[in-house]
Amino acid sequence: MGIKYIDELNIKNKRVFIRVDFNVPLKDGKITDDTRVRAALPTINYAVKQGAKVILASHLGRPKGGPDAKLSLKPVAAHLGSLLKQEVKCAPDCIGDEVEKMVNGLKPGEVILLENLRFHPEEEKNDPGFSQKLAGLADVYINDAFGTAHRAHSSTEGMAHFVKEIGGGFLLRDELKNLEGLLKNPGKPFVVILGGAKVSDKMGVIDNLSGKADVILVGGGMAYTFLKSRKIEIGASKVEENMIYDGMMMLGRAKTKNTRILLPVDHVVGDKFEESTPRSESKTSIPAGKMGLDIGPATIELFKKEIAEAKTIFWNGPQGVFEWAGFDQGTLAIARAIAESKAVKVAGGGDTIAAIEKAKVADKFTHISTGGGASLELLEGKKLPGVEVLRKD
Ligand code: AMP
Repeated sequence: MGIKYIDELNIKNKRVFIRVDFNVPLKDGKITDDTRVRAALPTINYAVKQGAKVILASHLGRPKGGPDAKLSLKPVAAHLGSLLKQEVKCAPDCIGDEVEKMVNGLKPGEVILLENLRFHPEEEKNDPGFSQKLAGLADVYINDAFGTAHRAHSSTEGMAHFVKEIGGGFLLRDELKNLEGLLKNPGKPFVVILGGAKVSDKMGVIDNLSGKADVILVGGGMAYTFLKSRKIEIGASKVEENMIYDGMMMLGRAKTKNTRILLPVDHVVGDKFEESTPRSESKTSIPAGKMGLDIGPATIELFKKEIAEAKTIFWNGPQGVFEWAGFDQGTLAIARAIAESKAVKVAGGGDTIAAIEKAKVADKFTHISTGGGASLELLEGKKLPGVEVLRKD
């Protein structure tokens, strides 16, 4: 079943409700990174040019059950207005008489941003009554918020059942094309690079990509649980004790599906989980009292060799504590090696994006996903509720 996208629907003069992801970082009321706002521009600009009455809605942060001035979307409306070079009206709420009046008064090509959806706890509960109220504002519903598509909330799933014409935006289309492409027919060798703090977050991805990927390179904190399951000494490195057995079983499953899993063969270690800790290198095993905080030079070479041969690459998770000056070399080297490769290169996850930016190689990637959690769930083989609801015969 296919998804219709905004350019396949007649939106002229219609009230087009676009669920966007404007969950931007704010400091003292100012946006510190507007990537998510910019990512929604193609869809918004298209709707404006087509003469739609554009209604934008998003959540921002985690309000505790009611309105919170610090989590108002007002600064985002002002910033969006400067990017679009036109006024973006600001609704005082996302439902209610006043909002309805403002929405129904829109002229074709005008834009309004509703207030933070999560000021109403019903949003995250996917409450049917709340979904219906949101749907009452819309002739057409468009989901362009890939970052929340793995959540069944009123604005991402529930309201779509109450609007006749529904579809996806350009960002959603781009995300699905690139991420589903990894699962459908990836050019071989398909190399997956995983890292980050926890194995438990990445178990589903490893399982689903076993058999599809030729090799999975595992660095970062999650590698130590796997190393321990292989009976390698890892000193005081962070380990998820309750995942050791599962990790061992997973390594076995990957092997039977002909996916190689490569773990670090050397490490950059410290004495404490602190940026100022003295830095040293250690081969294969890590002595008692030391903790692995980055992959070592031999591991970098081993991983780079695999990356150089890849035709398809997916990367999620830093290879070490890349936020700290002495422990960022592994992550930066991997980012640069991927950037140099001629493969189709897809990355996702907040920390991975930060690392790619630190290495200044963002423009070398085929696709950088705006949705960390959503991209992982898709690669785990899960159905995303915000995507599935858009599928029609
Ligand atoms: P995640 O959110 O699971 O992708 O984890 C990202 C975090 O993992 C980053 O903040 C890294 O600093 C951290 N990390 C990476 N390698 C290690 C390590 N060897 N030990 C502890 N934390 C790590």
